[in-house]
Amino acid sequence: MIEVKGLSKRYGDKIAVDDLSFTVRPGLVTGFLGPNGAGKSTTLRMIVGLDQPTSGTATVCGRPYRELARPLCTAGALLEAKAVHSGRTAREHLRGLAASNRLPKRRVDEVLELVGLTDPARRRVGGFSLGMGQRLGIAAALLGDPEVIILDEPVNGLDPEGIQWVREFMRGMADDGRTVLVSSHLMSEMQDTADHLIVIGRGRLAADSSMADFLARS
Ligand code: ADP
Ligand code: ADP
Repeated sequence: MIEVKGLSKRYGDKIAVDDLSFTVRPGLVTGFLGPNGAGKSTTLRMIVGLDQPTSGTATVCGRPYRELARPLCTAGALLEAKAVHSGRTAREHLRGLAASNRLPKRRVDEVLELVGLTDPARRRVGGFSLGMGQRLGIAAALLGDPEVIILDEPVNGLDPEGIQWVREFMRGMADDGRTVLVSSHLMSEMQDTADHLIVIGRGRLAADSSMADFLARS
């Protein structure tokens, strides 16, 4: 569960996120929808502790994201997927992350299999396609076997097959009782994916309802 209360972020005169409050429940895919510049990334970055709120709070399983610990709750995030410019192989990259998070080495092979990167695991990350890079980012987010997963525009630039894969991945996580929060600037991407929708515009909450209710009203 993710709880955002009165969350705001100011950059100088600009209010990027304006008094947002919402709850993200387990067992559902929750879409976080809004046009470019609406404040989605800023909100997600504050939830995972990469940006400090100007005011308000964001907690995951009742605690600040950075204080989460097993076995109570763990979380993983894929934020604005960036190419990993690395001469290392996918397996080496994940082993490094596993080691710095004190996770067992065997978990690396489990997540490589979960995201379908078993075969390319020995290839250098620098040569990965966008879709493979997204899968690697999701693999990294899955290392700690998270109860809560946060994905910022995970299908951006993916081909239809990659989009379908990400959808099925999110559905599987939700059906498994986990909490899934996924951002997008396209309603068309959310419609077939999200069970619940949180909509923001200019940093403010514009809607918070089940997908069925949202569609019935619009
Ligand atoms: P979204 O993810 O919905 O596209 P963002 O959260 O990236 O929106 O941005 C929200 C607003 O805050 C935008 O107007 C953006 O330009 C601004 N913004 C984001 N990060 C910064 C920053 N570091 N400094 C100043 N303005 C920023
Ligand atoms: P990225 O998508 O990799 O963050 P950007 O060029 O959009 O690349 O942003 C680079 C940095 O500038 C980020 O830290 C971002 O938060 C910040 N930023 C984004 N929008 C603005 C803005 N309007 N003014 C100042 N900084 C911004």
